Amino acid sequence: MTSPGIVRKTQRVVGIALFFLLIVLFLPLQAIIFFEFTELERRTVTSNIERAINIIDDERQQLLQLTRDNASWNDTYSFAQGQNDGFIEQIFNQSSFETNRLNLLIILDTAGKVRAYKTYQFDAARGTANEAEVLRRVNESGLLSRIGPDYGATEILQMPGLPLILSAHPILTNDFVGPSMGTMIMGRSLDTARIAQLGTQLRLDLQVHRLDQPDRSEAINSAMREITTAGAPVVTPLTMDSVAGYGLVTSAAGVPTLLIQVSSGREIAWIGRTTALYTLIAFVAAGMIAMVMLTKLLNQLILDRLGRLIEGVKAIGTDRDLGHRVSLDDHDELSLLADTINETLRALEQAEYERREAEMLRQQMWEDVIASRRNFLATVSHELRTPLTPIRGYADLMLHGIGGEITPDQQHFLQMIQQNSRRMEAMVNDLLVMGQLDAGRIELRTELLAVAPAIASVLTMLEQQIQQQQVTVSVEIPSDLPMVYADAHRLDQILANLIGNAVKYTRAGGRVQIRASYGGADRVEVAIHDTGIGMSTTEMDRLFTPFYRADSVMSAQISGTGLGLSISRSLVELHGGTISVQSTPDVGSVFRFTLPTGAAPGAVAPLAQASAAAR
Ligand code: ADP
Repeated sequence: MTSPGIVRKTQRVVGIALFFLLIVLFLPLQAIIFFEFTELERRTVTSNIERAINIIDDERQQLLQLTRDNASWNDTYSFAQGQNDGFIEQIFNQSSFETNRLNLLIILDTAGKVRAYKTYQFDAARGTANEAEVLRRVNESGLLSRIGPDYGATEILQMPGLPLILSAHPILTNDFVGPSMGTMIMGRSLDTARIAQLGTQLRLDLQVHRLDQPDRSEAINSAMREITTAGAPVVTPLTMDSVAGYGLVTSAAGVPTLLIQVSSGREIAWIGRTTALYTLIAFVAAGMIAMVMLTKLLNQLILDRLGRLIEGVKAIGTDRDLGHRVSLDDHDELSLLADTINETLRALEQAEYERREAEMLRQQMWEDVIASRRNFLATVSHELRTPLTPIRGYADLMLHGIGGEITPDQQHFLQMIQQNSRRMEAMVNDLLVMGQLDAGRIELRTELLAVAPAIASVLTMLEQQIQQQQVTVSVEIPSDLPMVYADAHRLDQILANLIGNAVKYTRAGGRVQIRASYGGADRVEVAIHDTGIGMSTTEMDRLFTPFYRADSVMSAQISGTGLGLSISRSLVELHGGTISVQSTPDVGSVFRFTLPTGAAPGAVAPLAQASAAAR
């Protein structure tokens, strides 16, 4: 058996733990991974920019080397001196320009006068770059002021239409000996084709942006701002898939001349992103696997065993057998719980055993007490009754004058003896009947009886008491009342008790009404109403308990044993009937009892309605 509640709760706990782990551990980890890869991307792009800047530097150095080689040459030397006029056409022909990727050659004499000015694929494409303009810009750039007697210099110049790498070197002899006969200037344009070439060489997507044009794009402007702020190359992602790095190429005077842009794919960032995603997927998958495993283990190690334990305890409850024991393998808290349950069961079993023993002992003692009380009652009532009969007999004889003439006083005393011995006899009889009922020794001799004559006979018997109490007694019995199955003697006893009580507990001038009727369901109901002292609810609750008498009755010193109602109830119930009471203090009471009928109403010969009234 499993307990879905515990499984769900555990899953919730693990879920929450994983969630917090995700937040506390995993998300920062993700951020770190992402950050590291972004940083790696930044470093890679920055290094690419540096490589691009370096290759342009190399280009400058290479051009300087070429200028140096050609400027330190006797032929050039004599050409600068005004000799060897065919030298330029001969040496710096088209193929030489092409081979050396030259676009501009200028030779100045010592006075700064142009001795030679030659271009290749230079003027034609860019009409604005005429000789005078080129010379003006060269002069303005300060390049010539940076060369020495035996060393040259380079510069990047913004010519209209294209950036140009320039290098200048003093013209010397073959052995680098002066005095310098002028300056040789070589120019190599950095046009798109050359930039593309350099990019291919570096395996980079390279672009060069001029900075001397006012209509620069916003991307260039913002890159410029960032570089100025950072003082270093900057890296800006362009889209999810491409990133651009920007770096500056500055002139010898430190003025930014060109902005180099290196664009590349974002493989590194993509690897970072996918790594982060895969770790997330792995984490979630691991969490789910952990959850499934945990549920499985929880079921296997705890819940199944807990289920067995619950079943075992349930079986004990169902069978109500404390002799059952629960068993669980392994040595853990659950088996400890099983042991504890077994211990408790053992203790309960022992306690139950001891309780039963004590119960049996008490029962035995109680039965002994009952038996001895019964014996005592039987013996005492028998012994008490024996002398009563001769006492009453002799009093009768004396009252009838058998023992001689008696005075009026003697007659009165004898009547008192007679009356009290009768009461005593009645009490002893009650005790005897009580004892017999207790012992279950009363056997009913039932027969079909009419209720009215029984009531009439009891009223006759109570006539003297009714007169003394000064109560009015009336009887109402329908003529077609069915007969009842009852023991005549016991019915008399019931009626005598109930009517006797009604008379006894009603004050002078009060009324007692006896009504018999067919109560349905094969029952005849007899109700005795009185306008007597009544009783409270608490008194009513204890009314049929043997020897019980209400406090008010005791204090009013009304004689009685407290046995009459108890005997009446037992007798009514022996007949298969019921007895009940309704009462209000100082208003009166109604006692009702039922007896089984012999036939349906009207099936029996009508009986004369009996009624009696006495004072
Ligand atoms: P007792 O011999 O005292 O009459 P019973 O068993 O006949 O004994 O009655 C028990 C008690 O019930 C009485 O003592 C009395 O307190 C109360 N009782 C019985 N019948 C009536 C009644 N008709 N009106 C008031 N109280 C009654």
